Amino acid sequence: MIEFVERLDESVDSLDERFDRIIEALEEYKLLEAPGLEAEAGPLVTDLEKRGESLFDNLLRKAIAGYDLSFRSGSEDEDSFAIIIDNTMDPVLLLDNTGSVLRTNPAFEKLFGFDSQDLEGQAILEFVPVPYHHAVRDKFAKVLSARRHRTSPDDNLVVFRSKRKNGGYVSVECLVASYLRDGEIEIAVILRDLANSHEIAAQLSDSEEQFETLSETITEAILRIDEDYRIIFANSAVLSTFGYTRQELLGSSFRELFPPEIFSRHEPDFRKYFYVDDQHRRGLGMKRTLELLGRHKHRGVSPMEMSFGNSSNYRGRSLTCIIRDISTRKNTERRLRHLAYHDKLTGLGNRDLFATEINRIFEELLPVEGFCGALLFLDLDGFKQVNDSLGHEAGDELLVETARRLRETLRETDPIFRFGGDEFVVLLSSIPDPRGAALVARKILEAVSRTFTLSVETDAPEMSSISVGVSIGIAMIPDHGTSLNRLTKSADLAMYHAKDAGKNCYRFFEEGMDEKVSLRLKMEQGLKTSLNAGGFELYFQPLVDPAGKIRGVEALVRWQDMDMGWVSPTTFIALAEETNLIIPLGNWIMETACRQISAWRAAGYDDLFVSINLSMNQFSHPDIVPNLRNTLRRSGASPDSICIEITETSVMKDPESTIAKIRQIKDENPGIRFVIDDFGTGYSSLNYLSRLPAEILKIDISFVSRLFEEQNQKVVNAIINLARNMEMEYVVEGVENEDQRRYFADRGCTLMQGFHFYRPMEAAKIDEILREENGGSREG
Ligand code: C2E
Ligand code: MG
Ligand code: MG
Repeated sequence: MIEFVERLDESVDSLDERFDRIIEALEEYKLLEAPGLEAEAGPLVTDLEKRGESLFDNLLRKAIAGYDLSFRSGSEDEDSFAIIIDNTMDPVLLLDNTGSVLRTNPAFEKLFGFDSQDLEGQAILEFVPVPYHHAVRDKFAKVLSARRHRTSPDDNLVVFRSKRKNGGYVSVECLVASYLRDGEIEIAVILRDLANSHEIAAQLSDSEEQFETLSETITEAILRIDEDYRIIFANSAVLSTFGYTRQELLGSSFRELFPPEIFSRHEPDFRKYFYVDDQHRRGLGMKRTLELLGRHKHRGVSPMEMSFGNSSNYRGRSLTCIIRDISTRKNTERRLRHLAYHDKLTGLGNRDLFATEINRIFEELLPVEGFCGALLFLDLDGFKQVNDSLGHEAGDELLVETARRLRETLRETDPIFRFGGDEFVVLLSSIPDPRGAALVARKILEAVSRTFTLSVETDAPEMSSISVGVSIGIAMIPDHGTSLNRLTKSADLAMYHAKDAGKNCYRFFEEGMDEKVSLRLKMEQGLKTSLNAGGFELYFQPLVDPAGKIRGVEALVRWQDMDMGWVSPTTFIALAEETNLIIPLGNWIMETACRQISAWRAAGYDDLFVSINLSMNQFSHPDIVPNLRNTLRRSGASPDSICIEITETSVMKDPESTIAKIRQIKDENPGIRFVIDDFGTGYSSLNYLSRLPAEILKIDISFVSRLFEEQNQKVVNAIINLARNMEMEYVVEGVENEDQRRYFADRGCTLMQGFHFYRPMEAAKIDEILREENGGSREG
């Protein structure tokens, strides 16, 4: 045996060869009892040789392959074992099962500078730096239990840096294996001086140095942990990230840096990072970084981002973690997310958040037996007017205040969204039945209809307090839809119907609503097309004196839809108002009427006038003054040939600003006259009426058609007296028969209008009549 080892040292210089010879020797001396050794050792060794791996690794593999070393004290086998130990180039340490040193070999003594006597009987941990204690102890325990249970430990390697007797450190990698002496377990620790390999040493010190320098220059915390989560390295940045100094962290547990439940949840992930290299992570579906909550010594919990590195030398045994506090980034993200999902003006959720929320309801609540929810679509009534007449700032204030009132009215758990413009959406996810939704709708109506007091300065100071209404459409979940599209469409339809029903009210969705609305949509589309294609016509209805002679004409717009045929102006004007198409349409009417009267005047009908109807939206629009001015200029129409008709109802909606505007228009266009249309229906306050700078009252058609009912005559007579007292002219419209004509003629009426005289007609027809009246002497 001795000769064998001597020969070995002389003749063999490759480590692998040395390893093979030792194995051979072990076999020869029957120190190894390995069933099927030949079968396994052969290919394994050659394979390893090809790869040029070291003796150490080979030994490791052999040990893992299940060699079972056992001998008795004083036996020849024990002698052989001792000889191999003493003569191998690898430092070896034999320990009893409590970790006390039994003996060392010369290679060990040489490496660490200890004598055998220095160590014998000492606990091994005395020589291991504290941070590695846990790992070493644990390794021993595993080896021992593996021996007891006759299993091979999955990994017998442990790496640490250890102190030499005379100072300085040695980095070692240890193979821990067990054997039996007289049936008792003992431990063999076979060390490999990592500095022994020049290549490794160079790499290690190089990278170690670089690593140290690098780790101190970066702001992220860098920790290296062993497989038991002991911290074996920490850079200075741990102080800012975790509030501990690096000294405090060394040797302590990585677990402490996280709330316990967070650590437990992520532990399986950490494990994976121990074993899987960076380049293989993607393939296994592992993220490059983990985001989790870490714990700062003083500041408590904050979000952190971790990335991991391990090198092939340390794989499975230690893990480098780079950790960053991402509170700031998270806050920014949160702000960005808030911006993306919320309306800037009101702070309410937007359409996207609504989609998320409703989908959550579909997922979580819809399957619940008996679930009942409701979707409320809200659209303010009269918002456009506020925006147009008082400016956007006032409009914005109104929206913000509306949002506040909604929030105040609804429960915290009922989310409110703003879809843009004056559209709000409320989601009720816990109501017993539709009555619950109706109750909420009524509360909303009440809250929104209260007068708003605006703080922004407006052109009209008396307008700082305003009232608007809200039209609400309700769709029940699940009855009126179980998809986002279906449900929002249902609520939207119901809302349109609330508008249609006179606004400031709520309507539930009902089957069949689609048709009505699609008709409206069709009509809206038709209006738009006609506007562009010149599809409107302007008719004129004569206003005659009691003798039947034409004094003026009222311009009345006509529209024929391709499918629907002639549509009543009452219908399409209302739609044009809602859709704001009234502005371009109204401009066209004004322009056409002005050109026409200009032409008639030019033809010599010097006193003829045209009466033009202006709708409320058109009249309250800030552009009306310049539009009218420009139209008159372009058409050459004289202001005294123009009457402007506004209905009593629209005057009374906002009398002060109507009065102001009429004055302004009159100042700019002296001679222009104003007619209060449909008089008698708008409940004028006498106070305003007396100040209204209008010349003509037009008695509403309803009084005329039911003239011979007693009550109506009283009203008509009152209006006539009123007009006289205020020195206004009055006109009657809707005169259909001789009795009616006589009635008004007897009461000094100067102008009448109605089918009894003429129906509304094209300008060319009016031309003919005018020519006839004037003895055919003039040309049109
Ligand atoms: P309005 O301004 O009060 O117009 C008078 C309406 O009474 C006209 O209906 C006219 O055709 C109708 N009418 C005249 N005489 C008689 C009669 O003897 N018997 C009956 N039953 N009706 C008579 P039309 O043209 O259908 O217009 C209805 C309403 O639509 C108008 O009421 C007006 O408010 C609006 N409108 C019509 N044209 C325009 C327009 O160019 N611009 C604006 N803004 N509104 C218009
Ligand atoms: Mg009229
Ligand atoms: Mg009228």
